[in-house]
Formats: sequence, structure tokens, C-alpha cells
Amino acid sequence: MPPLVFAGRAGGPKQERACRGRRHGRRVQSGGKARQGHRTPKELAAPQSFRGQGLNGLVPFVVQKGFPAKGRAMAALCWRTPPKAFHVRVGGRFSGRINDMAQTLLVGLAHPDDEVGAAGTIQAHKARGDRVVVVWLTKGQATGAFGDVPPDEVARRREHHGLRAGEILGVETRFLDFEDTRVMATPDAAAKVAKLVAELRPDALLTWGDAWVRGMRHPDHQASGQIFRDAVTLARIARAVTPFEPHRGRVPVFTFRDVHSRLPAAPVDVSRYRDTILELAGFYKRRIGFGNRDWILNRLQIAARPFGLQYAEVFDAWEEIPVSHQALLPAEPLALPSHPDREDLDLIDDTPSTAQ
Ligand SMILES: [Zn+2]
Repeated sequence: MPPLVFAGRAGGPKQERACRGRRHGRRVQSGGKARQGHRTPKELAAPQSFRGQGLNGLVPFVVQKGFPAKGRAMAALCWRTPPKAFHVRVGGRFSGRINDMAQTLLVGLAHPDDEVGAAGTIQAHKARGDRVVVVWLTKGQATGAFGDVPPDEVARRREHHGLRAGEILGVETRFLDFEDTRVMATPDAAAKVAKLVAELRPDALLTWGDAWVRGMRHPDHQASGQIFRDAVTLARIARAVTPFEPHRGRVPVFTFRDVHSRLPAAPVDVSRYRDTILELAGFYKRRIGFGNRDWILNRLQIAARPFGLQYAEVFDAWEEIPVSHQALLPAEPLALPSHPDREDLDLIDDTPSTAQ
């Protein structure tokens, strides 16, 4: 396979159109204009070109001098199925990544306030330029925090809390209509969430794991984690997500770290987001009593210690492992390559015709 050649700056939709139909071995000029004369000292110091193997060694490529090391989407736009994690290798040694494009993180939870445990990570993704969508399956209407208040009024208040939490974090929020304390991981539940996954098209899922921990782990948590994970798989099936397009992209799954987990740990350094975490926790603390400041800081510090960080949120990595402590994305590609898309295969139908 001849190498892909990248040069210039990443473009928007115009660039995407320009890349369509162009195959391997073509030099691509972004937006009709290369970056000549607009290079930073760092870029000027870079070698003339990188040759390498992307997608776990399957796709050879050359990156010309001038392509910004942290440029967005340039490489990705030149594939029908954009690679989400793209290594640059020089002389056979890993030397960095060029595809640091903005991605979508789906945070799939059971109740408004569950997101407090991921508030720093959500901020880390915002800092990367990612889109983050927090989805709660219920409105948390079963809480007794408000005393003798009718369930509809509890739901109304907690929905408002979720919306405010989204504003504090600066992210999109969605509620589904599952019943608090009665979330069940059924095929119907996964099918409902699969349509949302197909609509949102996430690049990673952060959700609950399977473990039970006294006090902290509401049965809705385990159930919602399974529902979201199942939904990511169902979202790949066209018939399951009509009228949305199936979402067949890789969606690495991360779950809140389980006490006895043997899965790889994915720590995210949230030290710089401490104030926002405490703002969100304080918001809930004053309204439902959950979000003790000292408890949260203590947990973040204990979680951070093994990784030499000050404050960290730690997750179980179910498949791919993040390449740094800065966010859950980008993640290392899976050790084994994915199966080619069906549309790339030349299928035959040799079924005998039905007897008349
Ligand atoms: Zn909860």
C-alpha cells in the first residue's frame, strides 16, 4: 500500500469534501492552501517528514513538515472510517500522536449527582475541546432528601438540579424516563438507550461498573452501566436504531473504578479542576445533602496517590487504555485490528431461489 501523505493545516467541511474520493498516495492540500510561511519555531525545528505505520502498523503514512503535530482531523478526514487514534512512529519507535481531534464523551449515569465522581474528567475533556454529553436514566425521584414531597415535585426539582449541574460543567445534558430504584438491564432498556447512542455518536463511554459497594452502589448504578454498555453494541445495528444511522465507531468503555477491579486503571489528573469539582459538589450539598467537600477531596487524593498525582479520578478501562493522565481520550488502539466494515466487502447471495 502506498503511503498517505499529509501536509498543511486541517480544514473544516471544505477539507472533508476535498479528501473524499482521494485515495492513498495523494498529497492533500488543506482548504486549497498549505501553511507555508506560517510555522512556529517548534514546527521549524521538526524533521522534514515522518514516515510511519498507523492503525497498528496497517497503514503506512508520511507526515510532511508543516503538518501541526497536534493538528485536528486532517488525517482522519481522509478515510471513510476515520481512525480515532493515530500513532506517529519514526524509525520504528513510538514518537507521539498526530490525531488529537475533538471527540465525544458520553457519560451515562443513573441519577443526577452521579456525575460528581467524574466532574474533573468531564472538565479535562472540555479542555481537550471534546463534546461531553451527560445522560441520566432517571430523575432521581426516589430520594428522601426533601422529606414529604410528592414524587412529581421531587422529579421536577432534581431535573432542575441536573440542568444546573450541566451549566456548571458546561456540558449537554439529557434525561431519560426510567423509574428511580427500578432500573432494570432489559433488552428494551438497552434498545431505548441504543437510539440515543446512535444519535450522539460517542467516541467513548463513561458509566457505572458492575461491582456492589455498601452505601455507594445503588442497584440502579449496576443496571444503568450494563444498559449503556449493551446500548453501545446495539447502536451498531441499523435495524435497532432506526431512524438514526447505526453508530459503528469504536467506543472504548470506562467505568468508575471498582474496589477489587483487575481491569487496568485509567487515572485522570483532575488537580486543575478542583474548584469546579467542589463547586458542583457544593451545589448538590446545599440542595440534597450529598457532596461533602472534605470527603470528596480525601477521595480524590487517595485515588491520586498511586499515580504520583495530587487529585485524580480513576476509572476501569474495559478495552483501550488512555495514552496519558490528561483525559480518557485518546486511548491506545486495541491490540488486535477491528474487522473491516461490511460496505468494504464484496458480498454474494447464493441462496437458492424460493420454489414457486
Ligand atoms: Zn446514583
